[in-house]
Amino acid sequence: MNVNSASGQSKAFVWNRIAGKQRQPPARPSFGYTEPSVSRFNQEAYDFSMEVKDSKGVPASVMQEEEKGKEAERARWYTDTILQAELADYSPVKGCMVVRPYGYALWEQIQKALDQMIKDTGHSNAYFPMFIPESFLKKEKEHVEGFAPECAVVTHGGGKELEEPLIVRPTSETIINFMFAKWVQSWRDLPILINQWANVVRWEMRTRLFLRTTEFLWQEGHTAHATAEEAEEEAQRMLGVYREFAENWMALPVLTGEKTENERFAGAVRTYCIEAMMRDGKALQAGTSHFLGQNFSKAFDIKYQSPEGGLEHVWQTSWGVSTRLIGAIILGHGDDKGLILPPRLAPVQIVIVPIYKTDEEKATVLERCQQIFAELKPRFRVHLDQREQYTPGWKFNHWEQKGVPLRVNIGPKDVAGNVVEIARRDTGEKVRGVSQASLVGELEGLLPAVQKAIYERALAFRKENTRQLANYGEFKATLEERSGFVEAHWCGSSACEASIKEETKATIRLIPFDWQPDSGKCIRCGGAGKTRVVYAKAY
Ligand SMILES: [Zn+2]
Repeated sequence: MNVNSASGQSKAFVWNRIAGKQRQPPARPSFGYTEPSVSRFNQEAYDFSMEVKDSKGVPASVMQEEEKGKEAERARWYTDTILQAELADYSPVKGCMVVRPYGYALWEQIQKALDQMIKDTGHSNAYFPMFIPESFLKKEKEHVEGFAPECAVVTHGGGKELEEPLIVRPTSETIINFMFAKWVQSWRDLPILINQWANVVRWEMRTRLFLRTTEFLWQEGHTAHATAEEAEEEAQRMLGVYREFAENWMALPVLTGEKTENERFAGAVRTYCIEAMMRDGKALQAGTSHFLGQNFSKAFDIKYQSPEGGLEHVWQTSWGVSTRLIGAIILGHGDDKGLILPPRLAPVQIVIVPIYKTDEEKATVLERCQQIFAELKPRFRVHLDQREQYTPGWKFNHWEQKGVPLRVNIGPKDVAGNVVEIARRDTGEKVRGVSQASLVGELEGLLPAVQKAIYERALAFRKENTRQLANYGEFKATLEERSGFVEAHWCGSSACEASIKEETKATIRLIPFDWQPDSGKCIRCGGAGKTRVVYAKAY
């Protein structure tokens, strides 16, 4: 692992080495940290305090000022956590990010697990070009209105102006559906179940590492079916896959439901989503699945001959999750010391740190460490940190920042007693005197225990921070004082939704699937509401 990192801490360390001494790194900044971060190339391209800046010139109350301060600290914490854990770095291109090896290893773990789930539900991977003829985007009216403002357009190639400009894909519905029109003739050609792992580009004005970047990595599923029912079932099935992935792999509980018309994907009939609560109480949309109806099949003329001999347009879905999931893991589990990674996705699940002072101790401790490393390697993603230029204390801090779930410490006394010490990242608890013979069993028990504990902590936090309210004054005060989810009735009007957003910055995150009809009055206008919806401020 390369430690000549972006963080000020490692720079301080390098400086101390040059000065001929080694010191412990300074304590990690907490949420109360206000000292400016290391000045970095192109850092100004990132807005650290997105939500803080849209003051409308109204004199802010003391409470709002406090809230802004907290918001800025949280934004700083988020950025510092990413830089110090070496997940990503700023790129020389505005709004883009460089995913560093540790961050990419985490993305690979995400890909590996999710790719298998996508294949297990009958889909195959394919790859389509990143350039899309401009005319394609214009074929579906809502789609072009939604995406045109954030498209990057290629006008020149090979030293010449292109006859038709090319769009760098913001999403691939148009080019994939152009191909589907070629491939589908008969009902026998259906369904088509395709997934693509790719990069996409959306020209964002305000960007934030992992959460919103101009170029990001994702998977996008695209399917075509003979009937509306089949497509609807597919859209919900894939939302279920995302839910299972978020809860079982990322250890993040999510709500599932439908987006309102305002928040719907451009070109979809219905957009379903999973929403998670972050440690600061804000919502994060972690994945979406769309029932596209026949909007694209009509625009691209994707028709099939039915068994009865008639010509019908296909019914479609699309669904995706992106590198934003890494942002969700950081914000959903992290603490003052940095990242906390769920064991099932952590690139390094266990790190072994040798502890010794004399050369004699070094020889015996390293030998034991190597022996244990060899024993654990076939079973776990394990790393032995035997670098000599860092002290054990420095290493403890380093691997805590990186969120490694378990650390095995081995010193001379442990070697003598044939035992080791295990430290948990999530709770800080230490299990001392674990016999070498029982180590594998102990670790096999602890990894799922950590996975479960951080899931349950996130679930308890969401429960504590979810309120049911019926009074608009209370609703406004609640969203102003603290974040969190508010469940309240909505009459279904876009005007109420828009004025709530204007007045509180909260949006309707979703209309939950599984709630019983529960009539009440719209929190904004008092009109009849059929069910409660979930309001929150969101990333
Ligand atoms: Zn209303």
